[in-house]
Amino acid sequence: MSAIETQFQQVRDRIQAAENACGRAGAVKLLAVSKTKPASLVREAWHTGQRDFGENYVQEGIEKIQALQDLDGLCWHFIGPLQSNKTRSVAEHFDWMHSVDRLKIAQRLSEQRPEHLPPLNICIQVNISDEDTKSGISPENVQPLAAEIVALPNLKLRGLMAIPVPTDDPAEQHAAFQAMSGLLAALQERWPDQGLDTLSMGMSDDLEAAIAEGATMVRIGTALFGARNYS
Ligand SMILES: *Cc1c(COP(=O)(O)O)cnc(C)c1O
Repeated sequence: MSAIETQFQQVRDRIQAAENACGRAGAVKLLAVSKTKPASLVREAWHTGQRDFGENYVQEGIEKIQALQDLDGLCWHFIGPLQSNKTRSVAEHFDWMHSVDRLKIAQRLSEQRPEHLPPLNICIQVNISDEDTKSGISPENVQPLAAEIVALPNLKLRGLMAIPVPTDDPAEQHAAFQAMSGLLAALQERWPDQGLDTLSMGMSDDLEAAIAEGATMVRIGTALFGARNYS
């Protein structure tokens, strides 16, 4: 087996074990975060059966999307911070956008989504750890923003995303993810027919806690592709 095959198998095994430990077999989708990694590695991952990939940088993501157009079934997720002058590229090239944290971004994505494409799937990014530095909307502002987004024609609100502050303390990990589950449940109660089915949370170091608390999509980079080199 190649390194990519081995690493994908190990992560899939971890996800499956975490699902089984809480009675959620098959409930979690693996989103492979390919930022900074070449298209050739994405292609290799595709051959192992992986279809969903996450990118943080618009230009880099589009280059890979274009280089891999011959592969069937790819689903591209934008997961990074987005400036409003770059929304058009995301609206035109991606299937999902996980990091919407203000109305202006959502409005522009809806306006710029091409007619021939299905609605852009949206997650609202929540600042669940109350950090000053991270992006994301505060928990009390989630419902008002969700109300605006469900009214936009070319977006489909799917759920919530978070990047909790990294910690080795499992209790802290669980607390943040549990709070996210509560926020999604409140949205589902208010909009029962919206198809709000997504909790995008859990990364290489905390995917077990995220899955135990209801994650439906884990975003994994390092454990799949190795450490990133930002030189
Ligand atoms: C880079 C990144 C990830 C993947 O992180 P790893 O620790 O490499 O698994 C997940 N989500 C977001 C938003 C990221 O930017």
